[in-house]
Amino acid sequence: MYQKTAEETLAFIQKNPTAFHTAASVQEALREKGYQELLESAPWKLEPGKNYYVCRGGSSVLAFQLGTDLEQYSFNIAASHTDSPAFKLKEHAAHKAGGRCTALNVEGYGGMICAAWLDRPLSIAGRVMVEEGEAVTSRLVDLDRDLVLIPSVAIHMNRTANDGYAFNKQVDMLPLFAGEDGGDITALLAEALDIPESRILGSDLYLYNRDRPSIWGRSGEFLSSARLDDQQCVYASLRGFLGASNQRSVNVLACFDSEEVGSGTRQGAASTFLQDVLRRINLALGKGEEDYLRALASSFMLSADNAHAVHPNHPEYADAENQVYLNAGIAVKSHAGQKYATDGISAAIVRALAKRGEVPLQFFSNRSDMAGGSTLGNIAMTHVPVKCADIGLPQLAMHSCYETAGVKDTWYLIRLMETFYRSRFEETGAGGLRITGASV
Ligand SMILES: [Zn+2]
Repeated sequence: MYQKTAEETLAFIQKNPTAFHTAASVQEALREKGYQELLESAPWKLEPGKNYYVCRGGSSVLAFQLGTDLEQYSFNIAASHTDSPAFKLKEHAAHKAGGRCTALNVEGYGGMICAAWLDRPLSIAGRVMVEEGEAVTSRLVDLDRDLVLIPSVAIHMNRTANDGYAFNKQVDMLPLFAGEDGGDITALLAEALDIPESRILGSDLYLYNRDRPSIWGRSGEFLSSARLDDQQCVYASLRGFLGASNQRSVNVLACFDSEEVGSGTRQGAASTFLQDVLRRINLALGKGEEDYLRALASSFMLSADNAHAVHPNHPEYADAENQVYLNAGIAVKSHAGQKYATDGISAAIVRALAKRGEVPLQFFSNRSDMAGGSTLGNIAMTHVPVKCADIGLPQLAMHSCYETAGVKDTWYLIRLMETFYRSRFEETGAGGLRITGASV
């Protein structure tokens, strides 16, 4: 079962070179299960017992299931992110380089490991805005072939290449696209979409790694792919969400874009997207402001974003005691400065869920003398103040364009998510939550 789940996870990720594709794949899976799309611009008429989703910005998706017994309800929310670090094409991308070459003018999206992007076949994907009569519509595009490559400088010309070389993204990271008369990328987009170039009015295009995902190691214990952070959690959350139901809660699946650039966009975790959708659910159920605030007080969020496993060559980067390993279960992440939202209460809730779902847990802290990353949980909670734990799957080489994780761990997260979505949370009045109905 671990191997099969790992293969399914990698197949999902390979279909999704950008956040736009991830959001589309999530929506496709929801539609296949009968979820109905809602537009933010249309009135919402919701029925208990039915399932819905809404997309904002083409790259963030919120899906929810309405139970049938929502007299006193709460929200069970799992959040993950659809985006990964990459290089984005600038508007005027074609760039005469090196005398007789055409490179593409790109800039960094998020904090990638630059060296990993060198000397690999890359392609280009994203969305293109197309003029259709009076409308402008968004179309997904994936040029889906070995198309560009960022060549290293030979060691003979850069003797410091192995001594902590500082990459300059404007100089070192421009991919080679064509010979002297390379033209522009627009012609390829028009060809891929089978439309005249004149109808292309805009685009958001990214480089992506063409290397195939792989399951490897002596006993097939590892898996590697682009974008494990955070599509591994998107996939596990989606599977757990679709595999469970709950009549006394509103189950919510939140897949946010923009995490890698701080979440501060119209559709990111720092936006009002989650708050707006939860409020509209409450309104459509015929409830008032007090019902909404009461629901939040009994709600719980799992913020799922990958965690750093102990590096085999650099164990010194891990905390003295709170270390996580591949294939050893889900990481619960905590940080005194609250870059992770986990606290004593939410860690206890996750422990209780893991016990009920029979899922192994590990606990992660950064070394106290190292700054770690931030994630979704504490950002989303500033608008939607629910109890929240930050969790994730252990991985190596975070923000490389080819990351490595354990073959068992996606399955563990699916199981924890199923247990979570079957549970009903109620505030006990003593700072805690009562959990009922969690048996799998
Ligand atoms: Zn992440």
